Amino acid sequence: MKNVLIIGGGIAGGSLALQLIEQNINVTVLDRGQNYSSVIASGMVNPMVFRRMNLSWRATEMLPYARSFYNDLEQKFGIEFLADLKIRRFFSSDQERGYWEKKQHQSGYNDFLTVHSDFHKQVPNAKSEFGSGLVKSAFWIRSEVFMTGLHDYLGKQGVLNTAFFNENLFNASKLTYGSEKYDAVVFCCGSANNKISFFEPANIQYNRGQILELESKELPEGESWNRKGFLLPLGSNKFKLGATYEWNEPELSVTTEAREKLEVVIQRITDLPYKVVGQQVGMRPTVVDRRPVLGMHPKHKGLFIFNGLGTKGYMMAPLLSKEMADFMLKGTPLHKEVEYARFIK
Ligand SMILES: Cc1cc2nc3c(=O)[nH]c(=O)nc-3n(C[C@H](O)[C@H](O)[C@H](O)COP(=O)(O)OP(=O)(O)OC[C@H]3O[C@@H](n4cnc5c(N)ncnc54)[C@H](O)[C@@H]3O)c2cc1C
Repeated sequence: MKNVLIIGGGIAGGSLALQLIEQNINVTVLDRGQNYSSVIASGMVNPMVFRRMNLSWRATEMLPYARSFYNDLEQKFGIEFLADLKIRRFFSSDQERGYWEKKQHQSGYNDFLTVHSDFHKQVPNAKSEFGSGLVKSAFWIRSEVFMTGLHDYLGKQGVLNTAFFNENLFNASKLTYGSEKYDAVVFCCGSANNKISFFEPANIQYNRGQILELESKELPEGESWNRKGFLLPLGSNKFKLGATYEWNEPELSVTTEAREKLEVVIQRITDLPYKVVGQQVGMRPTVVDRRPVLGMHPKHKGLFIFNGLGTKGYMMAPLLSKEMADFMLKGTPLHKEVEYARFIK
């Protein structure tokens, strides 16, 4: 395999392009130049799924791989976008605190949960009636800085082509696009997947997410506070407050309802004053079984999909893009749970 066309230059398509370039493949990334997910994302790489106080899927492999992937890219791009993140989860019930208490000593979890003996220690200015716990080893990526750096890098390599994918120019049997012939074409179109003909059975769904941008001299800069939502300090008295999860809302517009919901999130955590200075909306590409979708088309050999990163694209894209590249170049089997084949009856 020598020439690969990737449709979509978000975190999925971008990471895959970097992995393939590393293997001396000629890559072209076609991206329409409008991104409503990887750029909007808060970029948090959090090993926990707090709702059930479980580790995120394959977090013990994904998180260290992602950290070293982004560290290398900081060197390559010559910019900084990664910062360590102290996440403090405020429990919403005795039951939730109980889950943490039990899991903090378990293998796997002890790398990520700080062991607490006194959860009731008061956190100044926070409503912590059920206590709180600190997550270790999390970090966050300044998504806008990262995505600008990624596109600048791919642009300088002559890899990025800013244009809409026109299906009329594409021949899936011959793997030609316009006058160019490719050995493989990979669709990494995020939530726009179903607008293109080939991988509809994966049924990538729209999950709209909105966040508020806040300014405050009082809110904490050193910790990300979390309770049924998150407050992420960006530095210089600026914060992100998120996020909503709105199913099958395809409109990319901010709503008053979301703003009100998000203000309830912060009121559950603290009464410290803040000013809302902005609101953003994005679209997560989500799959019903909550697993990403990787694989090859059953009929059109050489046609691939890498999508469905859902709520955790920044944690999963680095390792999954490596596994996708190995699948394409060496035939290394994919993880069973992500295979596109699961949608084909
Ligand atoms: C509010 C919000 C907060 C989030 N916070 C986090 C977080 O803290 N941590 C985390 O890990 N994840 C977070 N996410 C999720 C994360 O953003 C996604 O998992 C990730 O961005 C998905 O990346 P992607 O590359 O698959 O899709 P996208 O980023 O949507 O990229 C797809 C690309 O394909 C291009 N494209 C589509 N169709 C075409 C076409 N026909 N022709 C040409 N180009 C096309 C688009 O222009 C786009 O650039 C958040 C998401 C939202 C909305």
